Order: sequence, then structure tokens, then C-alpha cells
Amino acid sequence: MAQSPQMLEKSISSKALEEISGGRLEALPAAEVLEWAIKTFHPGIALSASFGGPEGMVVLDMMHRLNPHSRVFVLDTGRLPQATYDLIDRVRDRYDKDVEIVFPEPPAVEKMVRDHGANLFYESIERRQLCCQVRKVEPLNRKLADLEAWVTGLRRDQAVTRTQTAKVELDRAHGGIVKVNPLADWTDEEVWTYVREHGVPTNRLHTQHYPSVGCDPCSRAIKPGEDPRAGRWWWERPETKECGIHVGEEEGGSGI
Ligand code: SF4
Repeated sequence: MAQSPQMLEKSISSKALEEISGGRLEALPAAEVLEWAIKTFHPGIALSASFGGPEGMVVLDMMHRLNPHSRVFVLDTGRLPQATYDLIDRVRDRYDKDVEIVFPEPPAVEKMVRDHGANLFYESIERRQLCCQVRKVEPLNRKLADLEAWVTGLRRDQAVTRTQTAKVELDRAHGGIVKVNPLADWTDEEVWTYVREHGVPTNRLHTQHYPSVGCDPCSRAIKPGEDPRAGRWWWERPETKECGIHVGEEEGGSGI
């Protein structure tokens, strides 16, 4: 088992720390936030993209324009829909990019499925969180342990759990690495405008009323007028709908 990232303390330069705490970055547009981040941390910085939302694809495109060697990784939970695997292949071809695939630990998946069955996530919030822990959180922690900074496509208006998202912040839940959320203040409309204007590839399930695509058994299409997050873990209340990847200190720092 990889060492817990909470036990690792990253040495972020004092200059970078000053820039982060100074607040200047919060006022910058997304491309300039990314330019600063890549200049400061590459190759120790990578985008975490689910390939299941347009935001990650927008950030991937922006990072590629700034540096064709910019890095991206995806957590392959083993339960992703075919459309997501197809998009990963399209991105590899379109950008000539090595998409870094991160898998869960096979023994942990085997034990979980033996103990609780393959569809444990429908049984309770605890079982769903266990599945996310094994298939997403542990692999992410392992990946982040080798990075100084990571980039996400989080936006503040995506969910009640994301309203405090800063554009650049210290991620103490992951050993104090830097977390960059360049689209924090973007709207859904701005994201899709960028996609159209730059011909960014996106997940084809978006055209079938999936605003957000996660694992196949935990994602569904939404009806007109439904909240965009209604198609993820639809059997749970909105405030529990995180996989543990994006958890801040105010939420206990118990995951991501
Ligand atoms: S989203 Fe569903 S299938 Fe994927 S890791 Fe979480 S509980 Fe498991």
C-alpha cells in the first residue's frame, strides 16, 4: 500500500506560497492561472481529468496550448462507460498526448467485491463511499504523492459542496501540494462556449442528457429542468454527493 500523502510534506517554494496567499492569482483569468501554474511546477504538475465533464477537457486544451508536454491523468476505476474510454483514445490521438492511466490496487478491489458484491454502492452511503475509496481515492492519493501540484476542472456553481473553491489553494488533505482550479468562477455556458470555439472533444454521453459522466453504474441521464448533478448517485442527498476526491479542510480533510 502506498504511503499516505498526509504523511508527506511537500516543499513548495516560499515564492509560490507568497503568490498563493497574496490573492493576486484569484483575480487572473483561467489561462493566466494555468500559465503561472505550469511555469511554477511543470513537470511536477498534472491535470486530473475524469473525461466525463467538459470542464476537464477545456482545461486539458488550455494546458496543451501553453505547453504540449503538460501532463494529464485519469483514474480508471474499472467501471467507466465505453464512451469515456473512447474519449480517452480521441484525446491521445488529437493531442498526441500520453494520458496517464491510474488503476486501483487489484487486491483491494478483489476483497471489496468478495465481501460486498460488485454492486455494493446501491446498498448504503457507507458502501458507496467504500467503493469510491478503493477505486478513486486511494489511486488518486498514490498519484498525488508524486506531484507538487494538481489541476482540476472544478467550478463553484457545480454543487453545494463546491461553493468555496479557490482558483489556487494549498491542499492539506494531500500533503500540502497545490491545487489549481482555473475554472472556479466559470459558468456552464462559458465552458460550452470554449468547447465550441476551440473544437474541444467531449464525452458523447453529454448529447444523451448526461451533463456529468462518472462510473457507469453511478451515472444516469437527467430530465429537463433537473439539477445537473441529479444524474450522479441519484439515490443520495446532494450534500453527500462527492466521491472523496474534493474534500476541503472545512469538511474534515478526509478525502479529495
Ligand atoms: S462512482 Fe460508483 S462505481 Fe465509481 S468508484 Fe464510486 S461508487 Fe464505485
